[in-house]
Amino acid sequence: MTTSLTIGDYEVTAVLDSPGPPRDPSTVFPTVPAKDWDPYRSFALDSEGMWLPDWCSHIIRAASGEGPVILVDSGMGDVVHQHTGKKGQLLNNLAALGIQPEDVDIVVTTHCHGDHIGWNVAYGEGNGTPALTFPSATHWIAARDWGHYTKPENSNPAFDKSVKPLKQLGALKLVEGVEQLAPGITTLPTNGHTPGHQCVLIESGGDTGVLTGDLFHNVVQVTEQTWCPTFDWNTDMSTESRQRLLNRAMNERWTVFTGHLPTGTSIGNIVSEAGKTVWKAL
Ligand SMILES: [Zn+2]
Repeated sequence: MTTSLTIGDYEVTAVLDSPGPPRDPSTVFPTVPAKDWDPYRSFALDSEGMWLPDWCSHIIRAASGEGPVILVDSGMGDVVHQHTGKKGQLLNNLAALGIQPEDVDIVVTTHCHGDHIGWNVAYGEGNGTPALTFPSATHWIAARDWGHYTKPENSNPAFDKSVKPLKQLGALKLVEGVEQLAPGITTLPTNGHTPGHQCVLIESGGDTGVLTGDLFHNVVQVTEQTWCPTFDWNTDMSTESRQRLLNRAMNERWTVFTGHLPTGTSIGNIVSEAGKTVWKAL
């Protein structure tokens, strides 16, 4: 059960916020006939045919202790989730790693959906004024997502609650394409799931790791790369981004850190087996 791996000079650790709600694959992938799931049911769905996602963030830290503490995505946040009856556990799980909110230097958002931005800001009980959860951090948001979700016609309550206030709080950095977070660590645009969806690429000491956000949601999409969930904003674009990145990850033997595969199987490699591209958890 791998939840942490070293990529060159960096340690990358999966940090769970919460299990997501069980989802019916016929609702999430409405264009995929039920029988097409049959070869994958035993490992991609549970015994009742439901997809069980996790909501997972990651911490990137230099093994030396030098350099920034980078949080990739901030989960669903400080609200009680109907399906668990509990709040997200991101802050508790960071504390278990010895990381307090003020230790985080950069929060990089793969994309501006509610399950990736939830802990960005907290609202006081009485006056509802937003405050930064990670008071020392700069939030790296793709300029394309910012441009999209700040248009009134694309209004999104989660964005308005958890991303928009970052500007007035002086913690917003808009990312244009490939930008360096730390030596060897860059953003990597993989647009389509949202207009500005981005991965985080780590190239260090001859190793490469990639944090894929919502480039794919279920392990089935490593093999069936054209299957798109209803959450994808532009399915042509998301398919192209998925195919291109998974190909590179396979050919160049990258380590892949995912946002929604179940904890313990969420870190792996993309490999070719019997003529099919498949997920190999590490
Ligand atoms: Zn997501």
